[in-house]
Amino acid sequence: MRVEVDLDRCTGHGICESIADDVFEVGDDGMVHITDDERPGSDRARMQQAVTQCPAAALRLVD
Ligand code: SF4
Repeated sequence: MRVEVDLDRCTGHGICESIADDVFEVGDDGMVHITDDERPGSDRARMQQAVTQCPAAALRLVD
């Protein structure tokens, strides 16, 4: 599974970073940067939480 961000939507709230700071980091540009966007199945619940809680609906999971 891969986690993707739509940078046209991301407003840099950093909720995703608070959920998984090893994957998401809000840069000085106010946009999220994703490290290791290919996630193991064991990380699905956490990634789903980030997708659900992003206030801008900027994240999605792709199988
Ligand atoms: S929670 Fe959403 S809007 Fe906020 S930094 Fe993450 S992707 Fe961007």
